[in-house]
This record gives sequence, structure tokens and C-alpha cells, in this order.
Amino acid sequence: MTQHFDYLAIGGGSGGIASANRAAKLGKKAAVIEAKYIGGTCVNVGCVPKKAMWYAGQISDALKYASDYGFAQHLTQGTPQFDWAKLVANREAYIERIHAAYQRGFDANDVTVIDGFAKFVDKNTVEVNGELITADHITIATGGRPSFPNIEGAEHGIDSDGFFALTEQPKSVAVVGAGYIAVELAGVFCALGSETHLLVRKEKPLRGFDDMLSDTLVEQMAKHGPTLHNHSTPERIEKLADGTLIVHLTSGKTIGPVETLVWAIGREPATDNINLAAAGVAMNERGFIETDKYQNTNVDGIYAVGDNTGRAQLTPVAVAAGRRLCERLFNNKPEEHLDYSGIATVVFSHPVIGTVGLTEDEAIAQYGEENITVYKSQFTALYQAITEDHRDPTRMKLICAGSEEKVVGLHSIGFGSDELLQGFAVAMKMGATKADFDNTIAIHPTSAEEFVTL
Ligand code: FAD
Ligand code: NDP
Repeated sequence: MTQHFDYLAIGGGSGGIASANRAAKLGKKAAVIEAKYIGGTCVNVGCVPKKAMWYAGQISDALKYASDYGFAQHLTQGTPQFDWAKLVANREAYIERIHAAYQRGFDANDVTVIDGFAKFVDKNTVEVNGELITADHITIATGGRPSFPNIEGAEHGIDSDGFFALTEQPKSVAVVGAGYIAVELAGVFCALGSETHLLVRKEKPLRGFDDMLSDTLVEQMAKHGPTLHNHSTPERIEKLADGTLIVHLTSGKTIGPVETLVWAIGREPATDNINLAAAGVAMNERGFIETDKYQNTNVDGIYAVGDNTGRAQLTPVAVAAGRRLCERLFNNKPEEHLDYSGIATVVFSHPVIGTVGLTEDEAIAQYGEENITVYKSQFTALYQAITEDHRDPTRMKLICAGSEEKVVGLHSIGFGSDELLQGFAVAMKMGATKADFDNTIAIHPTSAEEFVTL
């Protein structure tokens, strides 16, 4: 038996769900095929459970400040009776509620959900569980998976999916990697009281971010942990008789023993096992699907959105790309597409980072040093300012270009840097200048007000 749809999304993650719902709302017969769990990476093993763990770390931090706020001492000694398993259970129950909400959305929009792993048969046909599904328009939204290194003993470590499967807190852990996931997971472990080592192969983590952000993160790690080991590349992992792990580095040094090792060295696209060749869809040498600005692949009627395109691997990007694609295809908007510039992003590190636009180095390269003006601020957020021993710096930077001082980069690290960012990203998308920032009356007392009083 063959089912036919107007629109088919392969992958029920951020991009697939958003696009199929939009196609259905625009009157098309739409379906999503999902191999594992609806919601994809973000909901099940990404943003959502990560943020829950990060909040737990924030609460742990808050307990340290509590006595300065007048709370009784018994509340504030470490993180008493912290129950990792209970947190995980509550987190997973919340995710179940999200699954149910997705199903209600599909029911309301009349989107068909097909469980199973899809492979292309030809450019209009995929096969799932032995059944053929055809569609006029097919979007590949298969996302990605964690990369695993190819060294002796690597299998003793876990990846970010394995992190979310932990039902007990390890007493000691080594996290390998230098990007978002490495600093976020290391920050969570450390804030919740695990002895935490972060191993980066170069000089520091988050090298691609503005130096003020990565340097401040390193400075704060030196103060609060995790223990940062730079120029540290694992060569071999040794498992001891008691199950703990020793990380042998190429330098000859060792780290450990630790109970848990987490690989967070990047992600690769899930495109190698869906028989793209049968449809003739081209990939680049790293397996990412090549798309133009309209999300078209090289094959008519086949599109790709989200992580498997290798551009800005963030949930709202996959969602926006999928929705815009369907607006273009089904709502008579031939020019509709996603502008990938100026995407704001938050790293849920300890301390948290918010960043949008160009780094200082990028701005210099793009506009010339003489054409940019950089405004900086450093202060202690009021939240921590009243404490005795927890006064960490918040640092902010505004990068402006040209004589009109158009704001082209905005960076913040410290308490509140996550929630303050979105509004500034809107202003920058609208082309705001330093004068526009100056003309905006501050909201006092907040950290965000610094950006309009620089
Ligand atoms: P996915 O969400 O990965 O969905 C792809 C789906 O396709 C999966 O469910 C998969 O099972 C399914 N699939 C694959 N192949 C097939 C097939 N052949 N047939 C059927 N189904 C298939 N982004 C943020 O914006 N903010 C964050 O805070 C954030 N935190 C993150 C934390 C972690 C630990 C990780 C790993 C990622 C995080 N991200 C975050 C990134 C975000 O999760 C991804 O950018 C987003 O999920 C990408 O959506 P997608 O639709 O491209 O792919
Ligand atoms: P990233 O691409 O962010 O970082 C991986 C880093 O690990 C590399 O940049 C590299 O840094 C280092 N690395 C690469 N290979 C090795 C290796 N073999 N050994 C040691 N280190 C290595 O990948 P992540 O997995 O952290 O995250 C994937 C993507 O998911 C992110 O880019 C982001 O788009 C998204 N994400 C978003 C989040 C958010 O919005 N808060 C949170 C989590 C993920 P170097 O070259 O400096 O060594």
C-alpha cells in the first residue's frame, strides 16, 4: 500500500514538526516520519533537558548566596540532599507533557505521524517499515548526532545523549570538547557538586566567540571550576578494575581517575543512512546537505532544513527555516526565506553568555579597525553585589560600525545575559545605531540597562 501526501517531513524534530504543521495549516495534506521520539534532539536530548539541568545549577548557586540574603544557615551548606534522580524524573515527566502537546497540535492540524526510519527510494518516494510513502514535496529534517572519537577506549565515555540518560550523579567527571555542549555540561556538573575537569585541545573553550566572553569564562572557571585543562588531547582511555577511567593525553599526562567521561566534540549530520543517492541529493564532504537560500537541495521538490544543513545549528533556526519554506511553497510567497545573519544565541554556561552579531575580530576584519567603535562595561550584578564572597564580574561589549555607529555586535557574560538578549537582537535586526540605544531610557535596576548607558 502507498500513502501519498502533498508535504512530507523526514524527521520529527524542530524543523520537521514546524514545517509539517505550517504546511497543514496552509491546507496541505502533510505528514512527519519520526524514527525515535517526537520533538527530536531539542526536546528529548538537547535544549529542554539541558535547560532543566542548568536551572538546577542556578538553584545550587543561589543556595550559596542564600545566607547573604538572610536565609538560615542550614539551607545554605553546599547543596544538601541534592537528588539527581528526582530531578531527572521531573525533567522527563515534563518532556512527556511536551510529547502530548505535540500530538494535540498534530491532531488539531490534521498532520499524520508515521513511526519509523525513512529511506529514499526515488525523488518522490521513501520507504518506512516496508511501506512506500510518496509526496510532491519532501523536506529532509533528520538533524544530527554526537561525534565520537576514534581512539582506544573511547567507548568507555558517553556523549550528550548519554548525559541525559544518567540517573545518578557522578562524583567525578571529565568533559572533552570546547563548544557549547562541553561548557554547558561541564558547568552543570560543577555547579551540582561533581569534581569536574574540562579538557580542551587548544588554548581555551569557545574560541569562535568574542574574546571577552571566552576569556571571562576561563577566568571564572579558574575561580569556581570546572578545572580547565587546555592543550589537552586524549590519546587513550583506560578503564580501571573499579570501573573508573583514566584519560591518557597525547602530552603523556593523565587525568583521573574519574567516574564518567563525556565526549562533547561536535555533531555530525544524520544523512549517511537515508539513501540520498536514490534521490540524487548532493551532500558536501562532511555529509551536510547543500541548500540554497530557499532551502532547496539540488533536486526539484526536495528541501532540507535544520542541523543537517550545517548552518547555525539552533532550534529556532530549524523552526524558522521550515516554516518559511512552507510559506514559500504553499502561501504564494515566492521570495520567503530565512536570513541567517544576526542570529542571537545564548550559551548556558556558568556564567551564562548572550551574544549576537560580529565578534570584535570579525568586525575589524569586515569594516577595518578605524571604522569600528567598541564600548565596554564591567560591573557586579546587583544580585551578587550584596553577597560577601560571590561578587563575579558581568562584562558587556557593544561593537559599532561606521560614522553612524550601527550596532553590529553585542556580547554579554554574567547574570541575566540570557534573558536580556532577545530584545536587543530585534533592535539590531532593525538596524539600530548607538544613538538609538542612547535614546532608549534605561530600566533600572537591571543588568540590561548597561547597554543603553554605555
Ligand atoms: P533534530 O531536532 O535533531 O530532529 C531530527 C529528527 O529526525 C530526530 O528526531 C531523528 O530521530 C529523526 N530522524 C533522523 N533520521 C531519520 C529518518 N531517516 N527517518 C525518520 N526520522 C529520522 N539549540 C538551541 O537553540 N538552544 C539550546 O539551548 C540548545 N541546546 C542543545 C543542547 C544539546 C545537548 C544539543 C545536542 C543540542 C542543543 N541545541 C540547542 C541544538 C538543537 O537541539 C538543534 O539545533 C535542533 O534540534 C535541530 O533541529 P532539527 O529539526 O534539524 O533536528
Ligand atoms: P561545537 O561545534 O559547538 O563545538 C565542538 C568543539 O569541540 C569544536 O569547536 C572544537 O573546538 C572541539 N573539538 C572538535 N573535535 C575535537 C576533538 N576531536 N577533540 C577535542 N575537541 C574537539 O559542537 P557541540 O557538540 O558543542 O554543539 C553542536 C552544536 O549544537 C553547536 O554548535 C550549537 O549550534 C548547538 N548547541 C546549541 C546550544 C545552545 O544554543 N545553547 C547548546 C548546545 C548545542 P576547538 O577547535 O577549539 O578545539
